[in-house]
Amino acid sequence: MVDLKGQYAKIKGEVDQAILDVLETTAFINGKQVTDFSRNLSVYLGIDNVIPCANGTDALQIALMGLGLEPGDEVITPSFTFIATTEVVALLRLKPVFADVDPKTFCMDPASLEKQITNKTRAVVPVHLYGQSAPMKEIMDLADKYGLKVVEDNAQAIGSDYTYPDGKKYKTGTIGTVGTTSFFPSKNLGAYGDGGALFTRDNLLAENFRMIANHGQKKRYYHEIIGCNSRLDSIQAAILNIKLPLLDEYISKRRIAADFYDHAFAGHPKIRTPYRASYTRHVFHQYTLILEGADRNKLNEYLAAKNVPSMIYYPVPAHRQNMFASFQSGMQQLEVTDWLTERVISLPMHTELDTEQLGFICNSVLEFLN
Ligand SMILES: *Cc1c(COP(=O)(O)O)cnc(C)c1O
Repeated sequence: MVDLKGQYAKIKGEVDQAILDVLETTAFINGKQVTDFSRNLSVYLGIDNVIPCANGTDALQIALMGLGLEPGDEVITPSFTFIATTEVVALLRLKPVFADVDPKTFCMDPASLEKQITNKTRAVVPVHLYGQSAPMKEIMDLADKYGLKVVEDNAQAIGSDYTYPDGKKYKTGTIGTVGTTSFFPSKNLGAYGDGGALFTRDNLLAENFRMIANHGQKKRYYHEIIGCNSRLDSIQAAILNIKLPLLDEYISKRRIAADFYDHAFAGHPKIRTPYRASYTRHVFHQYTLILEGADRNKLNEYLAAKNVPSMIYYPVPAHRQNMFASFQSGMQQLEVTDWLTERVISLPMHTELDTEQLGFICNSVLEFLN
């Protein structure tokens, strides 16, 4: 699904040197590279506060910890997402409530979101799934109307943007109260290990998040609030400093691969290619098809036999996971989520796909369907 080796080969000299530099200084934790990366990312995103942390799941957890929610408060997330988005809600003894998604964008459907809002709802976590922004204007309008905090899960869409109807444009993750991301190796901006970050325009919140990620302390050994230990290490930051300037080039390579796929599958009666909302630039963390009138599990097997990887993201939506059984979330009616869960399949998507590979993948898919 990804070709991390091919991507590394092109930047090997720089990356190896940057790692050696960290080894020389032995500042493995909170080295200069971490401060530099936070500043570089803050410039890239156009936001004052970037708080690095250990991974994207921690970023979500720290975000929710820092918002001052009380046990039992309701937090609305999509069910059609990676489990981390909702897992942290339950972990913090908050109550996960699920909204359905839009069948075109795969992102949170504002109408379903509004239906799930009660007088206990405190926060909403839209996910920019597969690399495409959720409809942020509608979500922010509802958040304003009902006084909700907004945590944007930007783990799959770093570098994407959202344009308001009046033309104002923001990077995804910088619109809500706080945005979070992951630098897991296969993400669009991937480290060579774990990493994550939070972003916010609110300086007080930023200070809170920083303290939480550092055992609740501002001054060493004086712990003001309950926190955790969540750090981006210097080696990962050094690698990210090299990859961040390449992110836009990586995104355009993904978009070129997506165009190739779109073109090959255009008009096929059994394939729905990814919808591209006009308010955003899709950064194609995943290239995900909807198959109709064909068994996507059989396609998955057919491709595997030809050494073409494909994946189902995600085979079980959050509201049907056993971990949430006590919330009776499986009783919830999420028609679009359930419908999509049966029909989506993702094809290889990364920065190193060449036309020969893409052609072979497309032909293999078409062979199976014809
Ligand atoms: C990857 C991912 C996360 C979690 O990131 P980790 O760094 O693996 O903890 C959270 N949400 C979404 C949507 C993701 O894709």
